[in-house]
Amino acid sequence: MPRVKSKRSIESSGSESPNRNFKKSRTSDEFNAVNNNNYQCNSAKKMKNKKKRTSIKEIPVVCDVNKILSYRLNPASPKVILECLVEWANAGPNSNSWEGMDNLRYNLIFQEFIHNEFNKHEMEIFVKIANFKQKLRSKIRKIYNENPKWYIMHSIVQPFDPFEYKAHQVFYHLIKNIPEKFTILLEELVIKNYFFKLEQTQRTKAGLIADKMSELEGITIVIDNEEDFELPPEFEYITKNFLVDDVNQSFVEEPKDIPSGCKCVSCGPTSECCPMLASEPFAYKEANKRTVIGLKRQEAIIECNENCKCNKKCINRVTQQSRNLVLCLFKTANRGWGVKNADRKSVIKRGTFVLEYTGEVLGNHEASKRKVHSYLFDLNMERNNHGFYTIDAYKHGSLARFVNHSCEPNCSMWFINDCLKNPKNQKLCIFADRDIKYDEELTIDYCPRYDVPTSDQIDYSQKFICECHCGSSLCRGNIY
Ligand SMILES: [Zn+2]
Ligand SMILES: [Zn+2]
Ligand SMILES: [Zn+2]
Repeated sequence: MPRVKSKRSIESSGSESPNRNFKKSRTSDEFNAVNNNNYQCNSAKKMKNKKKRTSIKEIPVVCDVNKILSYRLNPASPKVILECLVEWANAGPNSNSWEGMDNLRYNLIFQEFIHNEFNKHEMEIFVKIANFKQKLRSKIRKIYNENPKWYIMHSIVQPFDPFEYKAHQVFYHLIKNIPEKFTILLEELVIKNYFFKLEQTQRTKAGLIADKMSELEGITIVIDNEEDFELPPEFEYITKNFLVDDVNQSFVEEPKDIPSGCKCVSCGPTSECCPMLASEPFAYKEANKRTVIGLKRQEAIIECNENCKCNKKCINRVTQQSRNLVLCLFKTANRGWGVKNADRKSVIKRGTFVLEYTGEVLGNHEASKRKVHSYLFDLNMERNNHGFYTIDAYKHGSLARFVNHSCEPNCSMWFINDCLKNPKNQKLCIFADRDIKYDEELTIDYCPRYDVPTSDQIDYSQKFICECHCGSSLCRGNIY
């Protein structure tokens, strides 16, 4: 019979509640705080946990456990309850009582009993559970393939509790004549533990990816997958386009064009600024202390460049400036990965520059070879004879490559030029068309109407038709 002499605090790991002694089970808030399904960057995660913890009220000690005298399984209950015979502090032997897992879960003496027994029999338990795992392999694979959301949905209702799993393993080892019902219960816990571990591993990996993306993009990016256990596809994150050599195109040999710069004291629509020098309208205007686009679609945006006299704070350098956004890369139910506003405190205001769609800049020949995937965006070929260029964000790109299509989008893509308007130096930038609320997905029209040629101009053999799942009442049915 185990005897516990001191109430030394038990090192907490995972979801275990440290330093609290009370008889009745308590709120599972703390547990939920650790065991939610979101993949988040580490800093966001820490903040969330902190907030939860301070909100939990200290529950007064009702009655302290003095000792665990014995243990048994109670097969009479529908789920086979683990029970311990408890000797209460400051109470006579007549008060001893059998208590179930629900009542003992957060009791330190009980936790210590389970940890000690587990450590004492670790090797034997390990071998037994390994057998279980072997047996359950194909079942786990089946669940994973058929319904990856099974565990995720389950843990929303009842989060997996690693301590409960540990207690069941200990009882499985200590007690002879295990009832069939208990074995089934333990099997279920073994499966859940597999998914719990998988989810933790993926969350850690996703957190690292999100941190890296945030650092490069200069905004806060979190990653969230409540659909399955996949991580975002691998690609190299770039914040600047780069030109790919194309032997069949002459453009590589072109002399290097150097854009001229403006000499404004303060750049604006009335100064002799870059747009004016390029015979284009000034793109940006001040509205409610923010800089927004003041152009209609399809007009070229000409921003100031490195040869201009103005500094980085110039109103005409919107896509070159830092911005304050919290975006979430998340797995959608039916359209792969998407991007949404994850800033609880603020909407993304209409006209805000959100992301640059970066990638490899390809010439005609190379682009036609890569038509197999949907990360290609053609650069504007109007108003010049420089040639035809496409941005490919498949292997190298930014968060923008995950922004999904909608036939009724809340964002749109703009071409940003220097005063030379050479398409190979163009940038593709996403701006908000209207205010975008917290948790709302960002979308663009991959084939906007103003850009769609009349039907006799479309070469359908060149386009691959892709079914649209945007869900809008204005859905055209196909993306391309
Ligand atoms: Zn200027
Ligand atoms: Zn300027
Ligand atoms: Zn649609």
